[in-house]
Amino acid sequence: MNNLFGARRNHLTSLKELRSEKISGNKKEEKHKDIECPSCKNEYNRALLKSKLYVCPNCNYHLPISARRRVVQLVDYSTFQEQKANLSSGNPIGFPEYENKLKAGRERTGNNDAIITGVGKINGYKAEIIVLDGKFMMGSMGTVVGEKFTLAVEYAMKNNLPVVAVSASGGARMQEGMFSLMQMAKTSAVIEKFSEKGGLFISVLTHPTMGGVSASFAMLGDIILAEPQALIGFAGPRVIEQTIKEKLPNGFQRSEFQEKHGFVDRIVQREELKDVIGTLLGLHKKDGNSNGSL
Ligand SMILES: [Zn+2]
Repeated sequence: MNNLFGARRNHLTSLKELRSEKISGNKKEEKHKDIECPSCKNEYNRALLKSKLYVCPNCNYHLPISARRRVVQLVDYSTFQEQKANLSSGNPIGFPEYENKLKAGRERTGNNDAIITGVGKINGYKAEIIVLDGKFMMGSMGTVVGEKFTLAVEYAMKNNLPVVAVSASGGARMQEGMFSLMQMAKTSAVIEKFSEKGGLFISVLTHPTMGGVSASFAMLGDIILAEPQALIGFAGPRVIEQTIKEKLPNGFQRSEFQEKHGFVDRIVQREELKDVIGTLLGLHKKDGNSNGSL
């Protein structure tokens, strides 16, 4: 019962935090603008949509949200301790304009790259939390994303914590060439080590989870959850259609399709995500460990 009230309290605190604009960073100029649902085109007052966790009340479209907002939605109030926030990327293959793209991403999100990692509690259970930021160069995985992911999982291994990773990514970061592709092997290898030691890895797939991220750690969860209607796959539907010269079935690569075909264990509404993850962490905790770690 206590747990139930605790969960409710945390949920309300998160909503309060969302309303207070604490995590919105440099969005002052957009504060009063209405937001249009990309799916049904209904327009909503920003504050209303915020209180609905950025899910359209009319058509249930789950709007993409920043990594910081995701942390506020999922993690118990003021329990999140960010790790390695200062890691930032160079331009390893001298890709034209890459520095400018990084700079724009930093200004837009307030992060140094497309990932946030840290330790926090979800409904009272301590976990290592990893969130990709789709608003930073489409959440693409370069050396910093790979390195921070790996360091986070190693930290979890050392401290007997479960790992919760929320993905939102277009795939590997082409501006880092082969260095970005190597992150697929690196992140997969650390998850394998973590798994061998009995660690629990919950992977949450949100719109979109594609390319090198879905082809590496995102699909390696012991439990894989997904938000409704998220695009999940490797190559996009248009590329596949052009390649095989066939029309793809309706809903191809959406969460519901992937759940039906066994790639996703359960589709979870954003509103329920925190409680579902909290319940899973509670079910898998080892007896006698009050902080919920494995
Ligand atoms: Zn809508």
